[in-house]
Amino acid sequence: MQFGKRAGDHTADAVLQMQRTMTAGQLQQVAADIDRVLEKIEEDTYGVCDECGQPIGEERLEAITWALRCVRCQAGGHSR
Ligand SMILES: [Zn+2]
Repeated sequence: MQFGKRAGDHTADAVLQMQRTMTAGQLQQVAADIDRVLEKIEEDTYGVCDECGQPIGEERLEAITWALRCVRCQAGGHSR
C-alpha cells in the first residue's frame, strides 16, 4: 500500500517542522501522539483510527498530521 509510505514521508517532514515551530509545552502535549504516529507509520496503519479502525480522513490528517483518531472518536470520546 503506497499511501502509508507517502504519508509517512509527509508526516516525518511535518514532525520535523513542528519541532521547530512549537513551544516546548506544546511539543510535550503532542509528544506521545507523535510517538504513536511514528509507530503507526512503521506498522503501516497511519491514517487509520486507533479507536474504531476506520480511515481518519485526508482533510483531518492534513490539519493534524499526527491525528490518531477520527473526528467521531475524538469528539465522542469512549462512548460506543
Ligand atoms: Zn474512530
